[in-house]
Amino acid sequence: MDGEAVISISQLEHYYGSGKLRQHILEDISTDILPGEIVILTGPSGSGKTTLLTLMGALRSAQQGSLKIFGRELCGADARSMQGVRRQIGYIFQAHNLIEALTVWQNVAMSVYLHPDIRRRDARPLAQEMLAAVGLADCANKYPGELSGGQKQRVGIARALVARPRILLADEPTASLDRHTGREVVDLMRKLAHEQQVTVIIVTHDNRILDVADRILHLEDGRMQSLSGAIAENASQLLTMLGKHDPEQSHFISTFSHALARVALADNVLVEQERQAMREAMLSTSGLSRAEVDLAVELAMAQVRISSEDTVELTRKPFSRIQREQFVAALYAVANADGNLTQDERQEINRIADELGFPEA
Ligand code: ADP
Ligand code: MG
Repeated sequence: MDGEAVISISQLEHYYGSGKLRQHILEDISTDILPGEIVILTGPSGSGKTTLLTLMGALRSAQQGSLKIFGRELCGADARSMQGVRRQIGYIFQAHNLIEALTVWQNVAMSVYLHPDIRRRDARPLAQEMLAAVGLADCANKYPGELSGGQKQRVGIARALVARPRILLADEPTASLDRHTGREVVDLMRKLAHEQQVTVIIVTHDNRILDVADRILHLEDGRMQSLSGAIAENASQLLTMLGKHDPEQSHFISTFSHALARVALADNVLVEQERQAMREAMLSTSGLSRAEVDLAVELAMAQVRISSEDTVELTRKPFSRIQREQFVAALYAVANADGNLTQDERQEINRIADELGFPEA
C-alpha cells in the first residue's frame, strides 16, 4: 500500500437536487492523494470545497465517476462500507462542535467509544494522552465553555486524532480563530500528522496557512485548477481589463506586456534597468497611465514567473506594421537594458517573434 494513493479520485461529478433544480456542483474532478501528504483545498465560497471534502470523508454518497479511499470504491457503495471507511478518518470542523455538557476528556473519549476496535476502558487514557499531545493535559476536566477558541480547536484536533485515523479532514479549521492562534492550530496539525503518518486535507480560504501544504488544490466553480493556473488566469483578466474595453488594445497590452516579461526573465535575473525599460516601452505604446503601466508590468511578470513554460501561449492576431516594429524594438530594448544582450534573451525574442509571426525580428 505504501506509495499508493490513499485517496484516488477520477472524473468525479456531483449534483445537488433533481429535475429542474438539479445543480452541477463538482465537475470532472481527478486527483490522487498520497500517504502522509498534506493537501490544502482552496477556492471561493460556493466553489464546492465542503462538498468534495464530505465526499472524501464518506459523509456523503458519491454519485458519478470514481472515488476510492484505501482502494475501496465509494461510488455506489453501501452504508456498511461507507461506515467502515469513516472509522479510519478523523474530522475537524470550522465550529469545533464540542458537546458542552461533557468535559474536555469526555469529548475526546467519545470518538473512542464510537470505535468498535478500541476497548472502552482504553478511552480515558488514550484521550489523556492525546490531550497532552495538543498541550491541553491540564484542561482534561474542564468544560468547553471554560476554554478559549484556540483551545477548543485543539480539543477538536485531539478528538479527531485519538482513534488513530489514517486520514484527517478539516473544513476551515482556522476560520473562527485569530491569526496567531490559527497558525498554532495548523502547525500542530502538521506536526501530529507527520508523527502519526496521517494524510491531511484542509479546506481553507485563509492564505496565511497555505505554506503548510505539500500541495495546493484550487476549486473554481466546481472545477479543479492548479493554483498557478488560477493566478495566471486572474492576471490575464486584469491585463485585459486594462485595455479599457477596446478588444484590439487589450490584446496588444496583454501580449506586449507578456512578451516583454518573457524577455526580461529569459535569463532568470531581473535587473532594475530591465523593469524600467519595460515600463518605458509600455508607456510609449499602450496609451496607459504610468500607474496602469506599473500594474501591467508587474502582472505580466507574475504571470510569466508562475506559468510553466507552455501554459501561456501568445495568441496570434494581426498587428499593424508600426505595432510590430515597436514591439520588436521594445523587446531588444528590454534585453539590452542591462547593457548585455545574452544568448537566452536573443533566443526568447526569436521564439516570441516566431509565435507571433514576425519574420523580420
Ligand atoms: P464551499 O465549501 O466551497 O463554500 P459547498 O461545497 O458548500 O462550497 O457548496 C457548493 C455549492 O453547492 C453552493 O452553491 C451551495 O449553495 C450548494 N450546496 C451545498 N450544499 C448543498 C445541499 N446540501 N443541497 C443543495 N445545494 C447545496
Ligand atoms: Mg465550505
